[in-house]
Amino acid sequence: MYEFAVTPAVTNIRRRGVTITDVTPSSLGGELELEAGDRVIKVNGRVVRDYLDFRFQTSGETELTLEVRKKSGEDWELMIERDEGEDFGLSFEQIVPRQCANECIFCFCKGNPEDARPSLFIRDEDVRLSFLYGNYTTLTSITEDEMQRIIEQRLSPQYVSVHATDLDVRAYLLGIEKERADISDKIARMLSAGIEIHAQVVLCPKINDGEILKKTIFDLAEFYPQVSSVAIVPLGLTRYNSDQRLTAVTPDFCRQTIKEITEIQSQLRDQLGTTFAFLGDEIYLKAGRKVPGRKHYGDYPQIEDGIGMVRSFNNQFSSLVKKLEQQPSHNRSEFSGTIMTGTLFAPVLREKIDELNDRFGTKLRVVGVENDYFGGDVSVAGLLTGSDFVKAQKEIQGDFVIIPRTTLKSDEEIMLDGMTLIELKELLGLPVLPFDLRSFSNWLSSSFPIHMSSELLAQSCALKA
Ligand code: SF4
Repeated sequence: MYEFAVTPAVTNIRRRGVTITDVTPSSLGGELELEAGDRVIKVNGRVVRDYLDFRFQTSGETELTLEVRKKSGEDWELMIERDEGEDFGLSFEQIVPRQCANECIFCFCKGNPEDARPSLFIRDEDVRLSFLYGNYTTLTSITEDEMQRIIEQRLSPQYVSVHATDLDVRAYLLGIEKERADISDKIARMLSAGIEIHAQVVLCPKINDGEILKKTIFDLAEFYPQVSSVAIVPLGLTRYNSDQRLTAVTPDFCRQTIKEITEIQSQLRDQLGTTFAFLGDEIYLKAGRKVPGRKHYGDYPQIEDGIGMVRSFNNQFSSLVKKLEQQPSHNRSEFSGTIMTGTLFAPVLREKIDELNDRFGTKLRVVGVENDYFGGDVSVAGLLTGSDFVKAQKEIQGDFVIIPRTTLKSDEEIMLDGMTLIELKELLGLPVLPFDLRSFSNWLSSSFPIHMSSELLAQSCALKA
């Protein structure tokens, strides 16, 4: 199931235009009698491929012609005049991602159990999603059409998985021939068109570490500020990765990497005024080291890639403590429950929660949950599953359980092993609250006991631990 042919990636065959999924009442779209299920085919004579095209082609235009295929099958041509900046009030179908045509030796898809959620097997490689959500692409199979689109529509920044600037090493890691692995012309073209690039290295011991990593960082630094940062994240191995070419990331390896990269960072800060090459939080935590201070991360250019999350969490937690101190003193002893998180983050969180318990009388307990579903060295919170939480049930104390919001799908209360939040609640026999720090903070500040705070539970977002 994992053996994809190494052929150029293709765009999924789909109908022309983009489908409207929702129309805000009393909006321009509503006045035009557009409805969910209608498809916008062209704007001012230009074909619309997705909602990004719609956004780009309508932006700044006050006089527009829309060609619409109604859900009834009728074709409408709408001549529109609108005020500057007036919104159509339309929501559109999601972008269907293009699939990659690589065979990376560390591909996360190879580390999934067979019964994992189907979406975990999607090998997306899509410059549109890179622009919209910071998804990384390798640029190995980008088409001319896509390149032109990035430049014309200013889809900047782009997030590029470089892994190594040494071409032999890059081709080896991506499992493709050198000609396709060479993206130097593509990068040069984007940079000369003013597109900003954030780069990523998935650090694989004995393959792209040491001198290869050093070369990669300095090669990319030559293009600063157009290449504005490099994220160095460690290889993650689950029990299902059996590729003999891969070596696990150990605490010793992390300590050695920190030593080498700290020197380079200091040199780059002198030269460029920025840290430029950032190590993933996981590397510091695995090494048993403290994460760097606030200044190290600047404006957190790679936080979505796990760079600076712990620092940001610590700072936000300090703000929460200050906020609670300013509130009238409530008895918070009714906050008696268990917070479950990954084993990697548990010590950091425990230190903070202990502080909270001491100061405010809460009775919260942090449990680091082993990831048995993926196994291997997977220890981050976001990859915990329902079955892992259930296995840690005997550690639970108090009246409720808090789990990281990131363990649930963004648009559905379901975990990576397919267990729903409702099923988890039933199995644990307790309320289960999927929180991020913001919703946790709101909930705690509310000073209501758990059974009264349904409104806050509804707002819960993602415990980014
Ligand atoms: S790691 Fe990414 S680019 Fe590489 S094979 Fe997997 S999905 Fe494709």
